Amino acid sequence: MTPIQALQKYFGYNQFRLSQEAIIANVLNKQDTLVLMPTGGGKSLCYQLPAVLLDGLTIVISPLIALMKDQVDSLNLTGIPAAFLNSSQSPDEQKDIAIQLKNGEIRLLYVAPERLFGADNRMMGFLKTLNVVQIAIDEAHCISQWGHDFRPEYLMLAGLKNEFPNVPVIALTATADKLTQKDILDKLNLHQPAVFISSFNRENITYRVNPKKNSFNQLLTFLDARKDDSGIIYCLSRKSTEALAADLKEEGYAAEAYHAGLNNEVKARNQEAFLKDEIKIIVATIAFGMGINKSNVRYVVHMDLPKNIEGYYQETGRAGRDGLASDALLLYSPGDAIKLRSFATVENNREQSAIMLKKLDDMVNFCQLHACRRQFLMHYFDEPFPDNCGSCDFCLSEFVKFDGTLIAQKALSAVARLKERFGTTYLIDFLRGSKSEKIWADHKLLKTYGAGADISKADWQRYLRELIAQGFLQVSEDGYSSLRLTQKSEAVLRGDLQVELIASQVTDEQEHETQNYEAELLADLRKKRQEIAIGENLPAYIILSDATLLEIATFLPQKMDELRLISGFGDVKLAKYGREFLAVINSYSKEKGLTSRITQKSVKRERKAAKPKKGKLSDTFQATYLLYKEGKSVTEIAHERGLSPTTIEGHLSRFIQTGELDVYDFVNESKIPAIKDAVESYGSAMLAPLKEVLGDAYSYGEIKAVIAWMNREA
Ligand code: ADP
Ligand code: ZN
Repeated sequence: MTPIQALQKYFGYNQFRLSQEAIIANVLNKQDTLVLMPTGGGKSLCYQLPAVLLDGLTIVISPLIALMKDQVDSLNLTGIPAAFLNSSQSPDEQKDIAIQLKNGEIRLLYVAPERLFGADNRMMGFLKTLNVVQIAIDEAHCISQWGHDFRPEYLMLAGLKNEFPNVPVIALTATADKLTQKDILDKLNLHQPAVFISSFNRENITYRVNPKKNSFNQLLTFLDARKDDSGIIYCLSRKSTEALAADLKEEGYAAEAYHAGLNNEVKARNQEAFLKDEIKIIVATIAFGMGINKSNVRYVVHMDLPKNIEGYYQETGRAGRDGLASDALLLYSPGDAIKLRSFATVENNREQSAIMLKKLDDMVNFCQLHACRRQFLMHYFDEPFPDNCGSCDFCLSEFVKFDGTLIAQKALSAVARLKERFGTTYLIDFLRGSKSEKIWADHKLLKTYGAGADISKADWQRYLRELIAQGFLQVSEDGYSSLRLTQKSEAVLRGDLQVELIASQVTDEQEHETQNYEAELLADLRKKRQEIAIGENLPAYIILSDATLLEIATFLPQKMDELRLISGFGDVKLAKYGREFLAVINSYSKEKGLTSRITQKSVKRERKAAKPKKGKLSDTFQATYLLYKEGKSVTEIAHERGLSPTTIEGHLSRFIQTGELDVYDFVNESKIPAIKDAVESYGSAMLAPLKEVLGDAYSYGEIKAVIAWMNREA
């Protein structure tokens, strides 16, 4: 059997992804290999496929006992005999597995490193009597002290190459950090390893950072739009995970907490319930998640600031392993950064402390970024990336600039009056004329006290952030984070320099651009999958992934031959579950008078490869534009693209702004002055008040068009 045949037969996939094919060829060639691929990239397949093709046993070393079962269940379901050995099993069970191993009936054996070398090397002695043909080391970054989750047991793996000198070792990790990479190679003693580095871009994840205000309400708003989805919510402290899980339950969400302090039974139960979709939300500390293969996690929320980009990227990477659109939301408050600073200092180790603090600074910079978040992340991992990804909060927003000189002058003179000795919070309270006792009595007598009362707290925060970013203010590094003037401040105060500020974010709309699918059928398919999952006592996503169900609901296969073309149906799954799912599809199609659309699917649809963006505006904008140019109306385009007319109007306005479309095509000339007037008096930050002022004769679309036109790029 060739690798591609095995891919189709066992996994039901038609193509290799990223560098899988080259990696597999390398292993089959008995070469040591290091694989760096982002979470969800498809690392497991890189050793699972060789395990099928090589005649013998593959040992898989994996750090978390709790998760081995999941992997093994999944393999057995694809028709690949696999087992694990760990302390949770009875002696009889273990003996049973040992016999199967001796008989050569098992292709993959999962073990934890301590087990491999523990108890006077008995295990090692036993394994050496078997025909071992491949050794896979999962989560290989655990061997590095430089990495962010060092596990001392992993250091023992250095001895593996001595025990099995002729067996190829494949080490896999999702950590992109260069120092860790080098360390893995050094510590594992690999023999002339080939290193495969994939792009770390996770293009199906949308990154958002929101200023943390009333975090629980912010979370509820976010969850409200995702009621049926699974997600992970990360908190910094154990206590807050429990409190938040309880609050969410009260709001009717099926949520449970997870942290290292819970007893093992509770942890295992909550984790299992999450994997099986019995609970939708897990509220966890970062103790949760490593090795979790649940592919249909739709969102990851960080309620608190992560300690470094590596951790953040790995945690957010747990969303969307199935390749479907997913969200990462981080709620950021500068206070969190201050709190973490104190934790980042490692006692008696200045070098280590400096590294930690630098990493924390990078994390803060990411949060305060006023540019494409994905580009920042990719650059952090030394990967080139263009400046507009089209799917982070920055790239999805439209920014309206205005002359903010007066605002800047108020802020800068307040800083001067306060003798550069206070931080953001005090400054804002002072500017807004807070009556609080916190404000010193003599400060209340100053002229600038209350000079910015007309601006909301949140806006002030944004403006100050921008003034800092533009170099008109700086934050002291003495630990007090007080605001100081800079060389550039002087010119602003004198009125010699104009300052531009960003007024608002007009849109940050989410678009799940999937092909048209039958939503009701998808629900039926999910129900069927859940039924099977309960019957087999397995998590639903192990039966079939969400991506597979979505494909069925899109292409409506009517026969086994057609079902075979759906990505994710290997031979075993097809034989086992094919008919049950066909029955669901057939009856739905009959009821609705629908037929198969399988011909619309030429090859098995894979997740799109990361594509460089051509122009400035992302593809979704371009798609709308092209349809419009074909002469279609907003309503027609909205219908055709499965998006709301408002979104389409938003897209088109962008082309008014760039000058590619004419505002007069969207608004009657006679209406423009009134709209322009309203915008000039009330600003364009919020559309609703403008609409109210203008009345029913003016539509949102018209207002947006005029705003875009007023901001048109020269
Ligand atoms: P990682 O271990 O890198 O985080 P996984 O091995 O769990 O990623 O793979 C993520 C998902 O992608 C799994 O659902 C897996 O079955 C799927 N997958 C892997 N390779 C392919 C492929 N060639 N075609 C389609 N899906 C794939
Ligand atoms: Zn972006």
